[in-house]
Amino acid sequence: MATIASKYDAPSKVPVGVDPNRASIARVYDAFLGGKDNYAIDREVYHRVREVAPEAQDLAWSNRNFLIRAVRFLVDQGGIRQFLDCGSGLPTAENTHQIAQRIAPEARVVYVDNDPVVIAHGNALLDENDYTHFVAADIFQPQDVLQNPQVRGYLDFREPIALLQVGTLHHYTADNGGELMQEYVDALAPGSFVAISHFLNPGTAEHQALAERMENVFIHSPMGSGRFRSKAEIMKFIPGLEIIPPGPGMAPDIVMSDMWWPDGPRLRPLSQVEECSAAVVARKPPS
Ligand code: SAM
Repeated sequence: MATIASKYDAPSKVPVGVDPNRASIARVYDAFLGGKDNYAIDREVYHRVREVAPEAQDLAWSNRNFLIRAVRFLVDQGGIRQFLDCGSGLPTAENTHQIAQRIAPEARVVYVDNDPVVIAHGNALLDENDYTHFVAADIFQPQDVLQNPQVRGYLDFREPIALLQVGTLHHYTADNGGELMQEYVDALAPGSFVAISHFLNPGTAEHQALAERMENVFIHSPMGSGRFRSKAEIMKFIPGLEIIPPGPGMAPDIVMSDMWWPDGPRLRPLSQVEECSAAVVARKPPS
């Protein structure tokens, strides 16, 4: 595994630990969501982003709300009963297993994260029933995750799995993320799904500058990562997969996260920041 490990390097490869002087992705995300599991250094990242994007919290909420809708869809319509949730984050109000098991109590969820605070909370809160498990691993080392004995023990790779990379891949800053995701996709059975949300640079005159400003703050903040990719770049993360249409009458595509099968009619325009979050659900063609 050492050779493969050296191929994919992310700043979050070495988690920050519980050092209160270093920002962690999970705690910064918690701060964006208005949670309590964060330190001053994490809140500093949030405040710095707010200086260039006053609606900064929308970045996290667009992401989290997409996760909730996507998991519901995957269980209810996709018939999925197994989840590999990469980069679970700190437990919050609606976690993947709660959403999935509300519809299908037998749905199995394996959370993977490498942040020590998430691991501590995950073991206590996420590992809450026989169908829900937490594994500590680097999600950007696909073979470490895929060959992990617990992952293999809890999930049946001969059956469809939903692989979640929700709010994670923008922390993988190198350009070979498509290859990384190919390794995951290769391991999935036909009929499996991949759900992704990702910071978006829409490339439009109106929003490109905002996306670049936010990226600049994230990358130069104590957190150190957060790439705003174009739709074409995000497309590389779903190699060979069929995109699920993101709404009624819509062509299969990557869309703004809030536009992916919203819960109801939209009565207000997207905020500037909501324009900079993209989502997609795609399926490995059934054989
Ligand atoms: N997926 C959740 C959601 O969408 O609400 C949480 C997203 S949070 C922004 C990203 C998570 O990915 C954090 O909990 C962080 O610790 C985790 N993460 C980042 N890099 C990682 C890595 N190399 N290995 C494992 N987890 C990682």
